[in-house]
Amino acid sequence: MLKHNFSAGPCVLPQEVFQKAAQAVLNFNDLSILEISHRSKDFVAVMEKAQQLALEHLGLENKGYKALFLGGGASMQFLMVAYNLMENKAAYLNTGTWSAKAIKEAKMFGEVIEVASSANENYNHIPKGYVIPEDVDYFHFQTNNTIFGTQIQYTPDVSVPLVCDMSSDIFSRKRDFAKYDLIYAGAQKNMGPAGTTLIVVKEDILGQVSRQIPSMLDYRVHISKDSMFNTPPVFPIYVSMLTLEWLKDNGGVEAIESLNNKKASLIYNEIDRNELFQGFVTDKEDRSAMNATFVLKDESMAPQFDQLWKDAGINGLNGHRSVGGYRASMYNALSLESVETLVQVMQEFEQKA
Ligand SMILES: *Cc1c(COP(=O)(O)O)cnc(C)c1O
Repeated sequence: MLKHNFSAGPCVLPQEVFQKAAQAVLNFNDLSILEISHRSKDFVAVMEKAQQLALEHLGLENKGYKALFLGGGASMQFLMVAYNLMENKAAYLNTGTWSAKAIKEAKMFGEVIEVASSANENYNHIPKGYVIPEDVDYFHFQTNNTIFGTQIQYTPDVSVPLVCDMSSDIFSRKRDFAKYDLIYAGAQKNMGPAGTTLIVVKEDILGQVSRQIPSMLDYRVHISKDSMFNTPPVFPIYVSMLTLEWLKDNGGVEAIESLNNKKASLIYNEIDRNELFQGFVTDKEDRSAMNATFVLKDESMAPQFDQLWKDAGINGLNGHRSVGGYRASMYNALSLESVETLVQVMQEFEQKA
């Protein structure tokens, strides 16, 4: 196996999670996890544990929130959010490809006010000084822009419901999560394998729109059935539960945040120091601790650099096609050693050039 997986998603997960998951495929209380009924008490316990751990890691237990594990990916939430929450209009911050996709879906349900956008600069920074109207049904934004490598470090102060796509930085750092009314995240960036999406929603914001909502798209239906309205993605939920347990065993969000900060400063220090590279994000305060994007100043040197990192056992370093260059995704399960290896490769490349 390759040693250092910097892939943007699906992403690196802890080895011990793979081992437990593999074991459960072979034997999970005398059946395979792949063949047990989702209504069996063994799986109901998995679902409850996953929901409880998700709320616990966010500090949202006993605060009126429900955790759901649904199918459909984070992209499904782009429309479910608007379906369930938008009566007339909603405000969106446009900070990247995923914002634009969320905005496109929301426009089918009402008026979208784009409070600010960095699209004209290829999303190389987070817009500043925007104003969120007070007469909207909710405000939606992304904390971390996986493709461009920007991250919003603060929680916007709003008087309207706050809705957030945290797909690529959930459980990576502390935030004041109680300020949020609905948080969603596709599992495959920082929580588990592809196939399930976590939704954490404050129940009292639901049921306020006048339209009819199809059952499968109605949060209240899923809440009333405890994420078992239809067959849930059993295995991705099980692996997510294992990853959330691993996080707890390793000190929780607070401990992982300090490790993530160490990894981020290692790579950004090297990007800034090394003459051959340049960071993609223009405002340093907007740099993502999860996805570091950078380019070679001289792109003709790419073949030599690519050979070096591949030889070092590094995978998934190519940037997204809309940015080019490189992207080092440093999700929770990526070790400090992997980032140290990448930094060494960048230094060796500089010496050889
Ligand atoms: C990957 C990603 C998505 C899309 O997730 P899917 O589960 O593939 O639908 C949405 N938002 C963000 C921020 C992402 O990184």
